[in-house]
Amino acid sequence: MGRVLIIGAGGVATVAAHKVCQNKRVFTEIMIASRTLSKCDALADLLNKKYDMQVRTARVDADSVEELVSLLSSYKPDIVVNLALPYQDLTIMEACLRTGCNYLDTANYEPRDVAHFEYSWQWAFRERFERAGLCAILGCGFDPGVTSVFTAYAAKHHFDELRYLDIVDCNAGNHHKAFATNFNPEINIREITQKGLYWENSEYIETEPMEIHKPLTYPDIGLRESYLLHHEEIESLVINFPTIKRARFWMTFGQQYLTYLDVIQNIGMSRIDEVTYTAPKADGTGTETVRIVPLQFLKAVLPNPQDLGQNYDGQTSIGCRIRGLRDGAEHTYYVYNNCSHQAAYGETGMQGVSYTTGVPAMIGAKLLLEGKWSKPGVHNVEEFDPDPFMSELNEQGLPWHELHDIDLEL
Ligand code: NDP
Repeated sequence: MGRVLIIGAGGVATVAAHKVCQNKRVFTEIMIASRTLSKCDALADLLNKKYDMQVRTARVDADSVEELVSLLSSYKPDIVVNLALPYQDLTIMEACLRTGCNYLDTANYEPRDVAHFEYSWQWAFRERFERAGLCAILGCGFDPGVTSVFTAYAAKHHFDELRYLDIVDCNAGNHHKAFATNFNPEINIREITQKGLYWENSEYIETEPMEIHKPLTYPDIGLRESYLLHHEEIESLVINFPTIKRARFWMTFGQQYLTYLDVIQNIGMSRIDEVTYTAPKADGTGTETVRIVPLQFLKAVLPNPQDLGQNYDGQTSIGCRIRGLRDGAEHTYYVYNNCSHQAAYGETGMQGVSYTTGVPAMIGAKLLLEGKWSKPGVHNVEEFDPDPFMSELNEQGLPWHELHDIDLEL
């Protein structure tokens, strides 16, 4: 039915590639392209054996529009699934426009030199995608992604008016490392060290990082301290569901994780500007000036999130707790998925955080190729019909559960 190009060969891309191969009636041709060709080749070898496929590979620097245009012009994909880093969103969107390809990603654009993410840069492509008759689907991971679809599903089936939205993200897994991040360390640490932000009464309210927190109860897990963070889906959800009076995002962190994070920040290792230092030359002939970005160096010495899967136990639990009106009365609703790290590892060799991101990315691409989620323009996932996505979640490994009229604790 369609030819897909996956860009990136990290944890999320690995899961998406497995899932694409499991749906080969829809994804009839598959290519994986990334900065390091050997990683693409290793992944393709594994998939070709496991699923009896002929996955192709290529090397591409996705920071270069020219390199992307050349690859897209020769492979001619129907959809490009961008699972590289947020820094590459704009170059890949530009290349898709120039070559007539549809586009999907899981994280909004972020400039390398400022730890700041927002949709404006990608929404600016709207008219060009519309005019070209192409579809760009933004933020199709778990959060953003499934959480936005959960919200759209609640609005469609359970409420006349959404009023209070709390997205709650708990990772109750244990990878048995002193400190590690669950996805790309550079992107992850940039995200969680920012100031908190939430929406209330038509305006954004800023907090100090991790300033607001409270214990919340997660299904099959129990109480976990949950911290209010700025998260990207809030920005589009309050626009697409304007009756929302307050929208917040909460994520759990253990005390040990926070202590490490404090130390990393206090000693300057989360800095994203370039620093120079003097080091002895490797050949022993004096010294040289070396430039590094501390956070990028830290990424190089931290555990690779792709290697965490084998010893990862426990589960993630991510969902939406919503309060709103139906037939004039107030109701509450909690919709969530729990995902086991071990089950994710058994199926794809990756831990649950990569799994919960890669599966929805495949589902979004599948719905686009099937014509169920395809309209010209640049769209956040809540702008599409949530129903086909919700049924795919149940079939593709991320079943969801609902609780009605319970105490939301929020
Ligand atoms: P990884 O660091 O494991 O993988 C990133 C991949 O992109 C690597 O293969 C890397 O290549 C490749 N890459 C980086 N720069 C370039 C470039 N210039 N050109 C080509 N390829 C490049 O990250 P993850 O798999 O953990 O995360 C992938 C994405 O998923 C991120 O954008 C992250 O923000 C997002 N995400 C979204 C979530 C959601 O729920 N919505 C949750 C978790 C993650 P190399 O191997 O050479 O470094």
